Amino acid sequence: MYKVGIPRSLAYFFYLPLWKTFITELGHEVVESPPTSKAILDRGVKEAVNDACIPIKLYHGHAAYLAQRCDMLFCPRLVSVRKHGDFGTETFCPKFLGLPDMVRLALDPLPPLIDVRIDLKQPRTGLWDAACEVGRKLGHDQAEIKRALRLAQTAQRDFQSLCRQGVLVPDALEAVLNGNRACARPAFGHDLTIAVVGYPYVIYDPYINAGLLKILQQEGVNIVTQDMLPDRVLNREAKGLPKSLFWYFSNRAVYGGMYFMKKPEINGMIHVTAFACGPDSMVDRLLEIQVKRHSTIPYLAIAVDEHTGEAGVRTRVEAFLDMLRYQRRGR
Ligand code: SF4
Repeated sequence: MYKVGIPRSLAYFFYLPLWKTFITELGHEVVESPPTSKAILDRGVKEAVNDACIPIKLYHGHAAYLAQRCDMLFCPRLVSVRKHGDFGTETFCPKFLGLPDMVRLALDPLPPLIDVRIDLKQPRTGLWDAACEVGRKLGHDQAEIKRALRLAQTAQRDFQSLCRQGVLVPDALEAVLNGNRACARPAFGHDLTIAVVGYPYVIYDPYINAGLLKILQQEGVNIVTQDMLPDRVLNREAKGLPKSLFWYFSNRAVYGGMYFMKKPEINGMIHVTAFACGPDSMVDRLLEIQVKRHSTIPYLAIAVDEHTGEAGVRTRVEAFLDMLRYQRRGR
């Protein structure tokens, strides 16, 4: 039995039920790094290249934490996860494409990487092929891989279904992977509903965004995110632009934002953007333009970096909510 490390960053918030269930069902132990802390961030800043975005630095910190606590580190090369649709040229951001190489060059000591290439657009590199590669590295035959993959896909579908019902990603993960269904209830019923859009590894990591979701919950607002929307809704929004962006998570944030900005029940929208992220400079501008053209929704962009503090985020969020409530009272 191997101990397989999964860093709590980047696509963790997107694929954890699939790969954790798969590896566990094959009989191995999955070790996750703990929630981001100052120590993890500092380690990531030290190990990663200087001009990397904050999520990539964080990933290095999480990988470094696991390096001597596991036998293998799960660090896939995510290229694309859509087989069909209007996203002909879409891939993950180049940092995802080079992630295993960056980690290998930055960290020493480092256990062997499970750096499977996931490129569902190619006929020969579907999920089954990726699962076979991971399963073989862990010493399993096709029958065992098939059984584990079936259970893993069920867990992933279960997770996505909870998200579609309005459950926030961290609560849906807790429900599916730890059986804690009590927290998997959408908390609607407040007077304001705020759409929060951005990359999952930015909006669901409370350290990097200085506790934004918790602040919103404490302020008594309903929260919706792009991850609560089914793909068909996002794909419909894609038709509203002459061209898609090249990057998967960027497209999801843009199309989620475009959907929410037209909904009268959404009172305001917050885009959380990562400092030093090239794609985000386009996402933020695009959202701003779309809001000006198609909506009157109040829009707030919050950029996060390694120096972001809770006081700064709280002040901006409170002022934003005060303005929204003042506006509602004036109607
Ligand atoms: S999309 Fe931006 S934040 Fe995400 S990994 Fe790429 S550069 Fe970093």
